[in-house]
Amino acid sequence: MTDTRSLHDLSFPELADVLAADGVIHHHARSLWTALQRHGVSHLHDHHFLPPLQRWIDKHVGPGRPWKLDQPEQVDEIRSTDGLTRKFLLKLDDGQVIETVLMGYQGRHTVCVSSQVGCAMGCVFCATGQMGFTRHLRPGEIAAQVHHARRALKQSHPDRHLRNLVMMGMGEPLHNIDSVLKALEIISDDRGIGIGPSKIAISTVGVVPGIQRLAAENSPYRLAVSLHGSREEERAALVPVSKRWPLDELIATCRHYGAKTGKRIFFEWTLIAGENDSPETARRLAALLAGIDAHVNLIPLNPTNGYAGNASDTGHEFQRILLDAGFPCTFRQRRGIDVAAGCGMLKAANDAS
Ligand code: SAH
Ligand code: SF4
Repeated sequence: MTDTRSLHDLSFPELADVLAADGVIHHHARSLWTALQRHGVSHLHDHHFLPPLQRWIDKHVGPGRPWKLDQPEQVDEIRSTDGLTRKFLLKLDDGQVIETVLMGYQGRHTVCVSSQVGCAMGCVFCATGQMGFTRHLRPGEIAAQVHHARRALKQSHPDRHLRNLVMMGMGEPLHNIDSVLKALEIISDDRGIGIGPSKIAISTVGVVPGIQRLAAENSPYRLAVSLHGSREEERAALVPVSKRWPLDELIATCRHYGAKTGKRIFFEWTLIAGENDSPETARRLAALLAGIDAHVNLIPLNPTNGYAGNASDTGHEFQRILLDAGFPCTFRQRRGIDVAAGCGMLKAANDAS
């Protein structure tokens, strides 16, 4: 039973190899992969396949057999009052629970996906960080969140498509980089969900080796780096892993990434009153980013139970300084703040109840 693997973990070439090893031809691999990843079929027995493929499925997929599907069960859903943000709490096969958020904004729909159960990075203001780390997600568990969001969108808005994805849910994507990159390969494959790589963003707390790998591989995805501090002490107080990958090393790595890939980097900055919202900090940030093609995204702090800080009320001055220094600088839309709040907060509330 422990050897059961998920068909959702497989890219198309991998699935084709698995079937070929059992003598099933490429054409059938294509119909199975299309059913799983394009049509998001969750019960293979409801679907009609040609006999050779059906025989393979009957023999290999299901309880007590070597292969299974990933079909997380929705245990809760919360909608914002405007109905545009929907937060799903999904239960995985081992009973662990993760969050996935579907956001609609000006006719565009984005899914915010989790990469881990919990997070090991321990950022002090983050509900997920406050939970600690439980485990990594497999590629199939990451892709299954997108299938879930697509089904939900199809029910509510049959004419709309999910075209954007952000790895900004629970967990640190670059701490689980192999599974995340595999999942994104599956999700961006035109034969499946087909969300274009340029519509996918990976957000990292600053795992330097992960950013180096993205640069070396010329990763086609957008990169967002959560900075939150413009000096080592300021950042380390909020983001403990800054001790492992210090700010100067992180910025040097971002510089290299930008030069190598030619891509803009999005820097995220959670604004916390009295901690990282002063004009001097904004000026230091502008100096730090000089020469990088950077966009700064300001996020007002969502209060969490485990952290006493407050949202800043000087954000606009902070923004003005960055704009004057020539950096695009925007506030993250706080869609659904009335119900959903920050990533990890619904699960935290559920665990506590
Ligand atoms: N682990 C990744 C991605 C998930 S968090 C990362 O840290 O980048 C996505 C963004 O939400 C990060 O920029 C994070 O710092 C921010 N965030 C987390 N908790 C928050 C909170 N309570 N208020 C505001 N922003 C928060
Ligand atoms: Fe993990 Fe990101 Fe939360 Fe930090 S902000 S604890 S890296 S999920």
